[in-house]
Amino acid sequence: MHPITATMLYDWTQCPHRPYVDLFTNRAKRDETSPFVKLLWEKGTAYELEVMAGVQQPVRDLSSYTGDEKELRTIEAIQKEEPLIYGGRVTADDLLGEPDLLRREGDGYLAGDIKSGAGEEGDDGKPKKHYGVQLALYTDILERLRLSNSRRPFVWDIHGNEVTYDLDEQHGKQSPWTMWEVYQDTLMRVRQIVAQEYQTIPAYCSGCKDCHWYSFCLSNLERSDDLTLIFDLGRAKRDAMVDRIPTVSDLAVAEIGGFMSGKKTVFPGIGPSTLLKLHERAKLVKTEGASPYLKAPVSFPSSEIELFFDIEVDPMRDFCYLHGFVERRGGDSATERYNAFFANAVNQEEEERAFTEAWTYISDRRPCAVYYYSHYERTVWRRLQEKYPSVCTSDDIESLFHSIDSVDLFTDVVRKVTEWPTRDYSLKTLATYLGFNWRDPHPSGANSIEWFDRWTKAKDETIRKRILEYNHDDCVATRVLLDGIRELQTA
Ligand code: SF4
Repeated sequence: MHPITATMLYDWTQCPHRPYVDLFTNRAKRDETSPFVKLLWEKGTAYELEVMAGVQQPVRDLSSYTGDEKELRTIEAIQKEEPLIYGGRVTADDLLGEPDLLRREGDGYLAGDIKSGAGEEGDDGKPKKHYGVQLALYTDILERLRLSNSRRPFVWDIHGNEVTYDLDEQHGKQSPWTMWEVYQDTLMRVRQIVAQEYQTIPAYCSGCKDCHWYSFCLSNLERSDDLTLIFDLGRAKRDAMVDRIPTVSDLAVAEIGGFMSGKKTVFPGIGPSTLLKLHERAKLVKTEGASPYLKAPVSFPSSEIELFFDIEVDPMRDFCYLHGFVERRGGDSATERYNAFFANAVNQEEEERAFTEAWTYISDRRPCAVYYYSHYERTVWRRLQEKYPSVCTSDDIESLFHSIDSVDLFTDVVRKVTEWPTRDYSLKTLATYLGFNWRDPHPSGANSIEWFDRWTKAKDETIRKRILEYNHDDCVATRVLLDGIRELQTA
């Protein structure tokens, strides 16, 4: 029987189908690992080495060993009561863990991982479930070996903080949970998968495009006409509906009223308005030649100058390297000009300079209409303002993004008042549907980050040009989408 590892538990939290396909599907059917995912691995490893190089206490380094030898040496190190063990391996029953760190505390050990991300979720200090289940597995093994100090493992995170994961702490008010409970539930599911007592099926989600099973799963989803191929109909909704409505085609022709009763539907967690919306989407994607439409009238700012704004950020460095704007005057696309503010080095001076220039550029053009796709630009500019308060005030940022002239095209328009006969409502999908083509054969934000990383090392002008071209095209695509929405009819 395959042992249960921390990676399997992590994968389950991202996509419950992933451990299943990794275990039971021929590896030859995988896609090649994307350059972006490879970059994430490289960064993770490099960060771990950097952290360990700075540790100021004696470390028993077992990272160069593998398999049984690694485990044997870990046990020896534990028996010698080494204060800190790096790169060890512990097993108990069907569990196998390779924690980055085992630290002697009292008469036992605590497990820890080095993560090249923040130790907690967002600003509210909630633990990350994908980190927590891994730490809980190591702790479970230590408990079974009677070596655990407590259920308080830790993460050394990208900010240099040690974040304690209290596995028994309760979170959530309405439905309280502990990380230990999440772990137990995840472990049970993964165990059932390993024993082939439980078979998962794919579900189209945002993580699919970076997954090495993307082509394989997508062809299965298409063949089975899976409900998750409808925008906003994810795994949970699909699983609630699938017994009565198995496919998109079934949903498209369903007598939907029969599933509704007053303010409820027969599907747990799905209200009548959501069900009606999903039904309409299914009809749209299954109708040959169907056109997108408006669900309600929409108006846009009337302005001589329109700016189409897009930024590029390296989340691993927490670094904004590009602010791009396409400027159009008088609604005439022949006037379009692209203006880019690029950080020419990865340091605070360059990030601040690019932000300052972008801020000055936009300030000089206001009043003007500003269009962007999703809240990301606003979030990043708020962070940049906090980092570089001499550039502008927080009120300046709020007044820019809360102005009636600023439009988050995705949140305020596409999601609220439009319907499209497409699988998702990403800028790529919708602008492509409207006939726009990116010049780059592999356009994506993830790829841009990987190009930027290569540019920082090689300073190759062709890479910089590729990054700028991609950002330029994203800005034009935003304009194409705006113009497309202006042409839509109300249903
Ligand atoms: S492609 Fe999507 S559904 Fe398939 S394993 Fe990967 S994340 Fe899961």
